[in-house]
Amino acid sequence: MTRQQTDAVFSSIVTCYFLPVTLLFERKEKDRSGGNRTRDCVLIRHTPYHLATDLYCTFMSRTYTARYVFPVSGPPLANGTVTVRDDRIEAVLTHGERIADVDFGNAAIIPGLVNPHTHLDLSGARGLIPPTDPNHFTDWLRGVIAYRRTRTAEQVQANIRDGLAECLRHGTTLIGDITSGGVSYPAIARAFVRAVLFWEVIGLSEDKYNATLSEIGATIGGSWDPDAPPGIYPATPSCRWATSPHAPYSANHDCARGQLYLGNAAIHFAESPAEIELLASKTGPFVDFLKQLGVWNASAFTAGLRDFFVAYPKAAPPILYVHCNYLPTDAPLAPAHTIVYCPRTHAAFGHPPHPFREFLARGVRVCLGTDSLASNPDLDILSEARFVRLRYPDFPVDQLLRMVTLSGAESLGWADETGSLEAGKSADFVVVPLPNADAPDPHELLLADHAGERCTMFRGQWRSAP
Ligand SMILES: [Zn+2]
Repeated sequence: MTRQQTDAVFSSIVTCYFLPVTLLFERKEKDRSGGNRTRDCVLIRHTPYHLATDLYCTFMSRTYTARYVFPVSGPPLANGTVTVRDDRIEAVLTHGERIADVDFGNAAIIPGLVNPHTHLDLSGARGLIPPTDPNHFTDWLRGVIAYRRTRTAEQVQANIRDGLAECLRHGTTLIGDITSGGVSYPAIARAFVRAVLFWEVIGLSEDKYNATLSEIGATIGGSWDPDAPPGIYPATPSCRWATSPHAPYSANHDCARGQLYLGNAAIHFAESPAEIELLASKTGPFVDFLKQLGVWNASAFTAGLRDFFVAYPKAAPPILYVHCNYLPTDAPLAPAHTIVYCPRTHAAFGHPPHPFREFLARGVRVCLGTDSLASNPDLDILSEARFVRLRYPDFPVDQLLRMVTLSGAESLGWADETGSLEAGKSADFVVVPLPNADAPDPHELLLADHAGERCTMFRGQWRSAP
């Protein structure tokens, strides 16, 4: 059979069978995404050979392309492709190696975004508790406490759902949420997202601290202790439990150290000048703050920040040190440690320049977080990276993208599964519209302030906000 005859046979197959099948699948995809997900997409038609290949792929996989694909684990690929089979990434290839089913045009395909630090239960506080200057941080904390006391359990649940919806709308596929009493579990555990829930532990007395640990054990049960009976909030394949000794000024030091030694924890750390003064000399604004709350306990504090960097078992899961606005750059962080820098919250309080560049230069992992809407304008982690880009135009743009994707996944212990576009990982990616411009480094296009709806694939399925 000649090449022309072969093409004629394939053309017949295409006309009679493949084209309707392709359109059928495209329609299915639209249905799953709420009817508008492929609005800006262009279906590509090929030669008979390519169409025959696609006939196979239509049943087995889908291939997506855009102006740029950012694997993060490798350099950007102009018109590269991402092929998804079931819930996995099958291949990430350069332009021309595989024909795409869907072209998103002037957009970037990036890994699902990772926000390792937020407090979804404060999502109703947007604009209600204005950040103070750095020397009046305890006044802001008083505002947060007063706000929390006004909220009913139903309002808190509604706030959590709203905050979660906002995170998902911006393309977050992995979230680290600080949760008091485990209240964000009901919303997050059933949402189409991956999560680590850090159960917040506050208590300057050992008794109060340990009472919370008992409450955690009873609630999540066998999620921690295989011999324990199942709790009402068990870990799920996509939702894991961790703990958060709240901060050096609010958690008994001996208890917090014991927890940090186990890893799998997050702690607010070196956040304000008052915290540094409290630890150094047991003086300053935190003394009155804690006395007014009736919890002052001078023996609960350690003498310095260094005591929170405990000897650490090699195989232990990660620890997140959140904020670190005033952390000395020679602090003894280990490879499993992560600094979470919350750029717009840091700026809202007017802190001095954050030392994240010095820590990165030392090889310390740094990722970005939003913190809560009590101090941040929104829960868009990509906007944090864009903010840093504006403030530090010389900072490497590829590192910024890593800080909101792969570094975040590493910090939460999920990097084997997500955080970069690599064959075998979960098919989690975000399609981000790009500006109509050129730049020497395509990361600059991605990090330019540019509006436009993002669409997100999570575990191989298009996702819409819950
Ligand atoms: Zn926080």
